[in-house]
Amino acid sequence: MDLSRRALFRGRFSSNSIAIVQKVRMPWMVSSEVFTDHCSRCAKCIDVCPEQIIEKGDGGYPTVNFKHGECTFCAECVDVCSEPVFRNKEEKPWDLVANITEAFSSSSSVSLDGVCMAHQGVVCQSCKDVCDVRAIRMSYQSSTVPVPVIDDDVCTGCGACLSVCPTQAIQMSSIEKKNLMNNCAADQQTGVKE
Ligand code: SF4
Ligand code: SF4
Ligand code: SF4
Repeated sequence: MDLSRRALFRGRFSSNSIAIVQKVRMPWMVSSEVFTDHCSRCAKCIDVCPEQIIEKGDGGYPTVNFKHGECTFCAECVDVCSEPVFRNKEEKPWDLVANITEAFSSSSSVSLDGVCMAHQGVVCQSCKDVCDVRAIRMSYQSSTVPVPVIDDDVCTGCGACLSVCPTQAIQMSSIEKKNLMNNCAADQQTGVKE
């Protein structure tokens, strides 16, 4: 692979990165390395996507941007592609799940942007209402208003909840990265240090 092309994606798609992204490469993608090696950047998948959620990302490579809407897993992007960049459509499209930001760290300025409204005491269940597979339930926990809780085993990573959240509090991440982030946040709240 051309190293300059690979460098374009280092960081965003690195397996060691714990960055949470709004943009992801593609469902059923073999791997980011195979994708950048073989994708011709013909843009056929961009044109065929009925949800119009695929855009040209870094280097002109197709990238799903959940801010434009949800992936319905129609697989038309896979069908139209003539390059060996996709896996079998019978397999799970990706390991992405939704992740809700419940609070900023104590050093952040006070703002509702980027934080779940329900966790700020404002009634909202827009994400639950839009989730077709019912991966989100509302829980009272210790809050005055019910807060959304995501079942990672049910979430398909479709991104529907992301685009309707009024405060952009939802991101997509792998389950592994989500657990890492949540463990870090829990350690911050309890003052645990390595
Ligand atoms: S599976 Fe369908 S909705 Fe999802 S990115 Fe591909 S063409 Fe678009
Ligand atoms: S839509 Fe956003 S603000 Fe509303 S409950 Fe869901 S995560 Fe919170
Ligand atoms: S990504 Fe899709 S399946 Fe997962 S919680 Fe959001 S709307 Fe539900």
